[in-house]
Amino acid sequence: MSFLSDAEMVIKVLNEYYIESVSGKRPVINQRPLGEIINDLNLAAHVKKGDLSQDHLLKFIKKYLSLTTRLHHPSYLAHQVAAPHYAGALGSLIDGFTNNAMAIYEMGPAASSIEYFMINWLLEKVGWQPSPIENEQENKKDHFAGGVLTHGGSLANLTAMIAARNKIAPESWKKGSPKDLALLAPAGCHYSIARAAGILGIGQDAVYYLEADRKGAIIPDRIPVVYEKLMNNGKRAIALIANACSTAVGIYDPLMEIGDFCADKDLWFHVDGAHGASVLLSEKYKYRLKGVEKADSIVWDAHKLMRVPTLCAALLVRDHKNIDRAFEQEASYIFHDKEQPGFDFIHRTVECTKAGLGLRLFMVLAALGEGGLSEYIEHQVELTMDAFEYIRQLPGFECAVKPQCNILCFRLEGSDNLQLKIRDQLNTEGEFYLSTTSFNNVRYLRLSIMNPHTNLDVIKQLIQKIRKIKAKIDQSI
Ligand SMILES: *Cc1c(COP(=O)(O)O)cnc(C)c1O
Repeated sequence: MSFLSDAEMVIKVLNEYYIESVSGKRPVINQRPLGEIINDLNLAAHVKKGDLSQDHLLKFIKKYLSLTTRLHHPSYLAHQVAAPHYAGALGSLIDGFTNNAMAIYEMGPAASSIEYFMINWLLEKVGWQPSPIENEQENKKDHFAGGVLTHGGSLANLTAMIAARNKIAPESWKKGSPKDLALLAPAGCHYSIARAAGILGIGQDAVYYLEADRKGAIIPDRIPVVYEKLMNNGKRAIALIANACSTAVGIYDPLMEIGDFCADKDLWFHVDGAHGASVLLSEKYKYRLKGVEKADSIVWDAHKLMRVPTLCAALLVRDHKNIDRAFEQEASYIFHDKEQPGFDFIHRTVECTKAGLGLRLFMVLAALGEGGLSEYIEHQVELTMDAFEYIRQLPGFECAVKPQCNILCFRLEGSDNLQLKIRDQLNTEGEFYLSTTSFNNVRYLRLSIMNPHTNLDVIKQLIQKIRKIKAKIDQSI
């Protein structure tokens, strides 16, 4: 068996790849045509011969890595995906190798226990009561929170909506969703919310969008207007969703006031913290989520601001019973009825075979420590603020909003098309990789500053590059 030598070789090549990426010497993005890549990687030949080991493997992996988008590159500024810490990648490797499908305890006691522990750790950060560890404790207090790790925030949002739907309309599980159900959400909510409406069968038209201020944050005083409209249409609200923070520009909704409104109306309050809940780890910035403890559920992605490799998202609920009821009408709430020393997550998730996602999260956390992760998050947020202060005072540039997290949207004076042209040219050259977004119907260039190696010099070089591209575009007109 060549496991050891192949694995050692792969790790060595990955280490070189990491050093090369961090140095910024190679393009951060290199988009070649799909057909060329399939050919260059010799995919068909390897499948036929079954020879992907030793030298063949070495050649393949080097080629493969040369065709990746480099998330460890300091000019990686595009999407909200972590530049993963190697400890998390080792967690993914160990999980893949052991392949303990841990949704039932007997299939992965270590993985299940770590997930249970990590869920409790996250619950405490939200300010909720962690789940009991020992069986006997469970009888003493029934009021504790719970959660599950899922393959991504979109699935976690869907799961939350299923749980909320089953609470307001328990008959749905057998008979299907009643026709009078609706959702309340910010206009700038992630598209997984509208998708959840589609999947639940209430339809995307049943999403009532809440009024927002210029930054895109929900205006609490205006919630009743939309709520009344929903009621007047003969609808019942499954849940009210708030952003923490919004995907496009990274703005936090005022959770305290929204929480009060929901409590008053006995409405399920869901916080979509897929991107921004991680600031709960920072003493300095956790105030952004003030009021989150009033929520019924929150989604929190570890593969965004926690340096964990994809995927690893948490759905957390204040009352564990609400998630235990998500996929069963008659759920037995804890440790199930069967005689076993642990806990089955299977009744909390869409998934059947489920990877041990807790391990990659735990390994990053345990490598950096809570303090280290908190420092990383604060650094990203502060660098984003510095980038904002720098860009806003440049002639010919403007920013969408003052950032609250690590997302910054800016544009050059000119048309939407100009922004798109600039981004296309940046992508073609491959020195910088950023994204674009539409906000208040205007196109912006968008930075998600995920990489711990990014600094203000990178941002300044990006601006220089953008100016050069702009000058060329001006000349060609
Ligand atoms: C990224 C994001 C999601 C989707 O999460 P995935 O893990 O990409 O599925 C949902 N909501 C918000 C606010 C996000 O930023």
